[in-house]
Amino acid sequence: MKIFNTLSRTKQEFIPLEENKVRMYVCGPTVYNFIHIGNARPMIVFDTVRRYFEYKGYDVNFVSNFTDVDDKIIKKALEEGVSSDEISKRYIAECKKDMEGMNIKPATKHPLATEEIGGMVEMIQKLIDKGFAYEKNGTVYYRTRKFEEYGKLSHKNLDDLRSGERSLLVTGEDEKEDALDFVLWKPKKEGEPYWESPWSDGRPGWHIECSVMSKKYLGEQIDIHAGGEDLVFPHHENEIAQSEAANGKEFSKYWMHNAFLNIDNRKMSKSLGNFRTVREISEQYDLQVLRFFMLSAHYRSPLNFSADLMEASKSGLERIVNAADHLKFLMGNAKNETMTETEKDSFAKTDAFVHGFEHAMEDDFNTADAAAAVFDLVKYANTNTDEESSEEYLKALFDRLVKLTDVLGLIVDKEEDILEEEIEKLIKERQAARKAKDFARADAIRDELLEKGIILKDTREGVQWKRA
Ligand code: AMP
Ligand code: ZN
Repeated sequence: MKIFNTLSRTKQEFIPLEENKVRMYVCGPTVYNFIHIGNARPMIVFDTVRRYFEYKGYDVNFVSNFTDVDDKIIKKALEEGVSSDEISKRYIAECKKDMEGMNIKPATKHPLATEEIGGMVEMIQKLIDKGFAYEKNGTVYYRTRKFEEYGKLSHKNLDDLRSGERSLLVTGEDEKEDALDFVLWKPKKEGEPYWESPWSDGRPGWHIECSVMSKKYLGEQIDIHAGGEDLVFPHHENEIAQSEAANGKEFSKYWMHNAFLNIDNRKMSKSLGNFRTVREISEQYDLQVLRFFMLSAHYRSPLNFSADLMEASKSGLERIVNAADHLKFLMGNAKNETMTETEKDSFAKTDAFVHGFEHAMEDDFNTADAAAAVFDLVKYANTNTDEESSEEYLKALFDRLVKLTDVLGLIVDKEEDILEEEIEKLIKERQAARKAKDFARADAIRDELLEKGIILKDTREGVQWKRA
């Protein structure tokens, strides 16, 4: 399996630290509002990466944090006149609802920054003891010059950055030894949440939380660290500096970054006012459509959100779901149970689609090509099955389709959804039973349909039905 590693800027063969295990950390959102569809891209992409590892038999320990202490959360709390805690709890709950809609598996652990302050104070102290950090008036800074490999992830020319980059000089931080030094701990301001520390009553900087939570839940060394490409510098660069200086070993073997989601070919951002929340999209589409749309491009390519592409994803998804439904319908009516020799040969031909799917996923998770292999299987299943097919053959095709779509996180087997053609068939059967005065059978059919949420009404024009 090959993964493009931001660290080496090449596709590298994946070799786990421990056989059959993957330790993976994905930087999660800052929770001060509903998540937007840009935030949804890393969630969907890295959930799919996780699912593929699981499909290959790996045991994946997947950790993704919620940043629940931050300037934006504090600002929102002040605006609403409520506590920061109330804001973050509210939007974590909303985020989890959106994640469920997008069929994103809950992480093995979703740590909260505010519950890990003790570990952060400990790591900061260690960095001070080792000479990698220093305190000035209650603020603790990381001493970037001391970490010789600083810049290895973002491949930046640090001397140019140091001399030229004005934006690195944040006001109030002129006491720093170097423009690239960053905050590990800062004193509280009036009205802000704070914790006690040896340096001041205050709160941690953003970068330290991921170093600490990753170490606590995954260990000092992990296989994959991931997030959006905007996190490469400074966030991930700083995480490396902190973790490697504190632990004395390489932090993460592979660094994966998704490209940005644009809207109408412009960068989606709050300041341009062109962002859309996942919740808004859910009013118009099943979030499965959003998921499929995100996977229609390679994760390292910029992706443009547009109504046309969403419609294309909707109809593509329908094609897959319809094929699954049709197989289920045929299964329910199959006359023969076991696969014939011809069917065995026919099923064996679908191995090629599975290989195509895996080949695409193993090439740095090319979900667009993997989806194309799923469409090949769909087309094959549609044209190589009929009323004469055996149940075993249909089920084998169905299971194969479900197995592949499950890697993409697409739900095609909705148990509760009874198909129209199946309903019509049962209604006909019920009428035949009534005609034959088999009222017990007729009632049983009506009850069976009712259980599936279908209400029958006998009228002069015949039987009418509706969904409850
Ligand atoms: P934030 O809440 O801003 O820290 O972002 C949470 C995650 O969403 C990070 O991994 C970001 O890189 C990612 N992200 C934010 N905006 C976009 C976007 N427009 N496209 C893709 N990823 C994004
Ligand atoms: Zn992070």
